[in-house]
Amino acid sequence: MPGLVIKPRSRIFHGHDWVYASEIKKSFGNPQPGDVISLKDFKDKPLGSAIYNPRSQIVARRFSRRKQDLDRAFFLRRLQLAFTLRERLPIDPTLCRLAWSESDGLPGLIVDRYRNHLVVQTLTLAMDQRIDLITGALLELLSPDSIVLRNDSPMRKAEGLEPANFVAHGESPDPLMLETGGLHLEATLLTGQKTGLYLDQLDTYDRVASLAPGKRVLDCFSNQGGFGLACARAGAASVTCVDISAEAIAAVRRNADLNDLQVEPVEANAFDYLKNCEKQFDLIILDPPSFTRSKKTLGDAMRGYKEIHLRALKLLDHDGYLATFSCSHHVSRELFLNNVRDAAVDARRTLRLVESYSQRADHPILPTIPETEYLKGFCFQLLPGR
Ligand code: SAH
Repeated sequence: MPGLVIKPRSRIFHGHDWVYASEIKKSFGNPQPGDVISLKDFKDKPLGSAIYNPRSQIVARRFSRRKQDLDRAFFLRRLQLAFTLRERLPIDPTLCRLAWSESDGLPGLIVDRYRNHLVVQTLTLAMDQRIDLITGALLELLSPDSIVLRNDSPMRKAEGLEPANFVAHGESPDPLMLETGGLHLEATLLTGQKTGLYLDQLDTYDRVASLAPGKRVLDCFSNQGGFGLACARAGAASVTCVDISAEAIAAVRRNADLNDLQVEPVEANAFDYLKNCEKQFDLIILDPPSFTRSKKTLGDAMRGYKEIHLRALKLLDHDGYLATFSCSHHVSRELFLNNVRDAAVDARRTLRLVESYSQRADHPILPTIPETEYLKGFCFQLLPGR
C-alpha cells in the first residue's frame, strides 16, 4: 500500500487523525488522490490507514489504526455501529444524524435520517469516489424510500469537489412534512438549509420553550422558526421570528399555519432589527450562523457576538432570559461565555447562567479532534434591579 511518513511532533502523535502537508516527511509508493494509504512514523512504525487527497489542506485523514480498505464490509460495519449508537441515545433515531464523519470513523461522510428518507453528504474525495458503495450499504441496512445527495457544502471545494445535489435513490421527498416534539415542520431536503432541519438543535427547542409561557419572545436568526414555534406552542404571549432569508421567513409562515400558531415573521437583518427595535422582550433567542470559519477572522466574529449580545440585553425586560448560541468551532465555550459577560458589563446588567447547551448527542465529540466540537449555547436570566 502506498503511504506517507509523518514528521515527529505532528498532531497524529497526540491522538488526532488528520495530517497536514507540513507534517509529511515523505511519501512512498506514489499514492493517488482518493486512495487509501498507510501512515508510518519516522521509525517506520505503522500508524494506521487513511484517505488521501493532496489537493486538500488536510492531506490525509486516518480512519483505522490497522490496515483497512474502504470496502463494502467496512461501510456496513461502521454504519451499523453508528446506527446502533443512535438507537440507544435519548433521541429520536428516525430523525437524526445517523453518521457524522470523523466522529463515526467515516471521515467526510454524513448521513442524516428524516424518517424513511436519507440525506447523504460526501465531503472528502475518497468518500465521494465510493458513493455507490455507500448508498449500497445504506439500502441494505435501512431500505429507505429515498436517498438524497446533498453535496453543496463549501467544504467540498477544499477537496476539489464540485457541488452536486440529486436524488440517488427513489423520488424527491420534498417538501417533506415532519412531526417532532409536537410540532409539524416542513423540510426540503434537496434545497433547505443544512440538510433540511437543524438536527443539532432539535432537542433544544423544548428546553428553551419551557421558559416561554406568558412571555414576549424574540427568535433571532430563526430559520424556519424551530425555537419560536416551540415557544408559541408552550404558551408564549407573543413570538417574533427574524431571519434575513425570504425562504426561511416563508417557511416560518407555513409552519405557523400548519401548527395553527401565531407568530410574527420578519424578514430582516437581525443586526438592524436588534438596533432599531423599540419593543421589549422577556425571552430572546440568538442562533446566528457561524461568524467565522477560520481562526484568522475570530476577532471579527467576537465583535459580532458582542454586538448582538449588547443589543439583545438592551431589549430584555426585568427578569428576562437570553438564550444564545455559537456554532463556530473556533469560538470556545469559555470565549463565548466571556463575550456575554463583557456585554453584560457594558450594558450594566447582571446575568445568571440558568442552562448550558451543546450539539445533540447524535453529533458526538472526539476529545482528540477538537474540530468535532462546534455548537455551544447558554441561557442567562437578568437579575432584576442589578
Ligand atoms: N435556529 C435555527 C437555525 C438558525 S441558522 C433553527 O433551529 O432552525 C442561522 C440563520 O440565520 C439562517 O436561517 C440564516 O438565514 C440566518 N441569517 C444569517 N445572517 C443573518 C442576518 N444577518 N440576520 C438575520 N438572519 C440571518
